[in-house]
Amino acid sequence: MAEIEKTFVVEKTCPICEKEFRVVKTRSRIMVTGRDEDGCTHYANFNPYYYTVWVCEHCGFAADEETFTTKIPDRHLTILKAVLLTKNIKVPFVEERTPENASTAYRLALKYLDLIRGKSSKKAKYAHRLAWVYRETGDKVQEEEFLTKAAEFYEEALMRESFPIGELTDNAFMYIVAAIYNRLGDRQKATMYLSKLISDQGVREREPRIYDKARELWSDMRSKSRR
Ligand SMILES: [Zn+2]
Repeated sequence: MAEIEKTFVVEKTCPICEKEFRVVKTRSRIMVTGRDEDGCTHYANFNPYYYTVWVCEHCGFAADEETFTTKIPDRHLTILKAVLLTKNIKVPFVEERTPENASTAYRLALKYLDLIRGKSSKKAKYAHRLAWVYRETGDKVQEEEFLTKAAEFYEEALMRESFPIGELTDNAFMYIVAAIYNRLGDRQKATMYLSKLISDQGVREREPRIYDKARELWSDMRSKSRR
């Protein structure tokens, strides 16, 4: 199936320039071929992470669907309009995104979050998914750069934000951070987060899925270190 059949185009109104712009949405039924321990899901001949970030083709505003469809606080609108409506950033609409298009979208979204001092959990999401885009293309250097950023943003979120965030608890965040550090080869940090999860009786009782995943990653790490 061509990539294009897995997506469809809808029109939305931009909260910054108030013009109509086109968004590529992905169909929900796409065959999953695998899952990495840090949450990256692989699909048959398709990568929905290319389309996580919507980009307004008129003013260049970029963010995820949640941001576009939730009321943006006035103080943020003021900052974003001041920048975007004067800079004339043009990002042409593309129906079938390349990894480069996806990278541009994520980088813009991260930049705008910096401008408004946005939430670390949101920055973590963008950096992590951009790392997954590079994982697919085999760009190890950029994958690790964005995995590192993602881990740091998740850690900031753990310190400053209240949970749950979406469906994720603080324990879910800790597991993700451990999985990222394990990938980056930082065993010390990975071990620190995993041991917190495994030694917590509350996690075992209330979030058995996370407990099991933490145990699994832990034993995986141990068997690799013996080899
Ligand atoms: Zn716009």
